[in-house]
Amino acid sequence: MNAIDWKNLGFGYSKTDYNVRSWFRNGEWSELEISDSEILPLHMAATCLHYGQEAFEGLKAFRGQDGKIRVFRMEENALRMQRSSEGLMMAEFPVDKFKEAVRKAIKLNERFVPPYESGASLYIRPLLIGTGAQIGVKPADEYLFMIFVMPVGPYFKEGFKPTDLVIYREYDRAAPLGTGKIKVGGNYAASLVSGHRAHANGFSAVLYLDAREKKYIDECGPANFFAISKNRYITPKSSSILPSITNMSLRQLAADMGMIVEERPILAEELADFEEVGACGTAAVISPIKRVYDADLDKEYLYGKEPGKISVQLYEKLRGIQYGKEPDPYGWTEIIE
Ligand SMILES: *Cc1c(COP(=O)(O)O)cnc(C)c1O
Repeated sequence: MNAIDWKNLGFGYSKTDYNVRSWFRNGEWSELEISDSEILPLHMAATCLHYGQEAFEGLKAFRGQDGKIRVFRMEENALRMQRSSEGLMMAEFPVDKFKEAVRKAIKLNERFVPPYESGASLYIRPLLIGTGAQIGVKPADEYLFMIFVMPVGPYFKEGFKPTDLVIYREYDRAAPLGTGKIKVGGNYAASLVSGHRAHANGFSAVLYLDAREKKYIDECGPANFFAISKNRYITPKSSSILPSITNMSLRQLAADMGMIVEERPILAEELADFEEVGACGTAAVISPIKRVYDADLDKEYLYGKEPGKISVQLYEKLRGIQYGKEPDPYGWTEIIE
């Protein structure tokens, strides 16, 4: 077994020892099975391959200074996956079984949980797919739920570095009454072309506007948007964005810091009024933004080359809870024994 170079981990796929699986057949979920294979036995007519019956989740486990492994808010991921399965008419995976599968996947791969000092963590990827064969357009009668894990590096290798976003009005990620609010692969496929163009032009992500009017801010690629202005934490309310668990946590922490929390439609023009702007999600917690470029209007909004003060405070507080350095008053973490 080769030693892992914890300091130089990126966010690529890497193989770990085991994954955990449960099959839905004849109307019930099987006991959790342990597999050491990276390959799935899959029928060529499985609905996940043809009609997009696929949902996923992403969460992390962290090794603290005390050596203990903490997993962050997994119940919220379990509930969100249930909303995704409802949205795509897939069999619902029970919350308790989801948590059991997360614990099992971490324990079985404990040697891949990075040491505290590395700033790295264990990324946990739950997946739910329609496996039943179907050629008519209707939901499958068989499903696979599984979890695999992999160690991932700290998002900001060179420290907490602000990046640039771009607005392109010719692309939408999701429709107002479509699948934007659930975590499904189709939304990601739909964002590849615009995301690729943004990256090729030096931007970290696309800042999508609402698909109906192109007036309001939706979200930044695979992360939620937030802004700080006049002691307010402001984040979009929209039917086409994914309810981020990181955002939910930051709203609570901002309120605890005495800020006013606003969840409301945000006009794109308001970008001119904000003191700090950021993207948030499990991967980075917060990605501070230094510039938003509106490519259609050839207009830019600037927020300073260094991360804003409030963004840094929120980031440190949330990371502190995840690594067990800060008190966890809401019971967001569970220690894996
Ligand atoms: C997963 C995801 C997020 C971030 O959610 P977290 O629960 O904070 O990781 C934001 N936007 C989209 C589109 C996502 O898929």
